[in-house]
This record gives sequence, C-alpha cells and structure tokens, in this order.
Amino acid sequence: MTLVAFLTGAGISTDSGISDYRGPSGLWRRDPEAEKLVTYAYYMADPEIRRRAWLMRRDAATPRPEPNAAHRAIAALERRPGFAVRVITQNVDGLHQLAGTPVRKVLELHGTARAVVCTGCHTRSSMEDALARVEAGEADPACEACGGILKPATVMFGQRLDPVVLGEALSIAKAAEVFVAVGSSLQVQPAASLAGTAAEHGARLIVVNAEPTPYDELADEVVREPIGTALPELLQRLE
Ligand code: ZN
Repeated sequence: MTLVAFLTGAGISTDSGISDYRGPSGLWRRDPEAEKLVTYAYYMADPEIRRRAWLMRRDAATPRPEPNAAHRAIAALERRPGFAVRVITQNVDGLHQLAGTPVRKVLELHGTARAVVCTGCHTRSSMEDALARVEAGEADPACEACGGILKPATVMFGQRLDPVVLGEALSIAKAAEVFVAVGSSLQVQPAASLAGTAAEHGARLIVVNAEPTPYDELADEVVREPIGTALPELLQRLE
C-alpha cells in the first residue's frame, strides 16, 4: 500500500464554479466589508452582519456546484488497488465527498459550509434547511432547539482550527509516502506547513498550483498546468 495524501485548496474547486474569496479577483479584494461577514466577532455581535451573511450564502448557493475532474481523479485513485488515500482540505464545499471519496478519508481543516451549527448548544443541522428558512423570510434564522445564533459549520476568521482535526492532519503528513498539494497557495498556516512536515518525514512532495508557492523549492515536482487536466494525468502515472 502506498499512502498518498492530498492537501487541497481553493484552486481545486474553481473549475466547479466556486470562487476563491482570497484570490486576486476574489470577493474580499473587491469588497473589504465582505470579510466582516466571515469574521466571528463581527458575526456574533451584529445582527445586520448576520443578515447580510445569510443573503450572501443564499446567493452563493445557486447554482449547485458539482465535483470536477480533479476531485474525481482523487476519488478514483482511492479505489485503485495498492493505494491508500487521505484528503486534507482547506475547502468547505464538500466536493471531495460528492465525488466519491469516502467521508472518513476526508479531513476538513476549515469545516464545512454544508452544515450549520448553533453557537449556543452546538446542535448541527443542514445548511439547506437554514437557507430555506432565509428564502421563506427569516433574515437571521435562530437555532430551533435553543434560539441561539446559527453559523455555518466552518472555521471563521478569528476562530481556531479544531485541534483534533489538525492533529490527524499532522499524523497523515508524517506517514504519507506521496504528498500532493493541489490548488493551495500554501500561504495559510498551519495548513501550509503540512507540506514541509511531509517532506521532512520522507514523502515525495508534489505541488500542483497555478502560482508559485513557498514550498516549490522543497518539492520533488512542481506542476503549473491547469489542475483539471494535470491532476488526472499525474495520478494516472503514479506507480
Ligand atoms: Zn441551539
């Protein structure tokens, strides 16, 4: 068994029509106020911010994104004999799971936008249900169990990553024989340092990204081709 670990970032989902909020033409460059909508302290303190955040989520929710060739190539590798695959993702879109990678093999460092969580009682429910309530006229839908403030089950700015999830990601990076960073600028810590940890522990490091990353020099292979075509080819020739 060859353990192949993937660290995936926004770039793997752009072919699925999901915009990279942080990217050069991202929402946060065009509208600095938008960053408040995903910053925990503002979100919790200001009902007006929450109202705008729900409208943004409602507008972003259509049309429904589908996994693309890169997500499917990773799912296909997971089914190939001789390979064990783990995915560590910075994305909150759930597209790896939709593409067929088993849920238990995907670590979501920044949580998921497909669920909402109550900030009071921690009850989880579906984003789809919450958006239906927004559509029906509730500007800031509250938790149905306790009346508390609902937020997406994502890690907002100002919130810590789940230490358990991060610990698992570290173990995977240390154990990986091949570590492929895909569509991540490798600039957001601590996620980015997983690439360095993997290389230090003997993994073959492959970086697939349109732009240069701080880990390119450490990498055994750097791929700049479009992810949707480059990743399936790359995984096809893994022995
Ligand atoms: Zn609650």
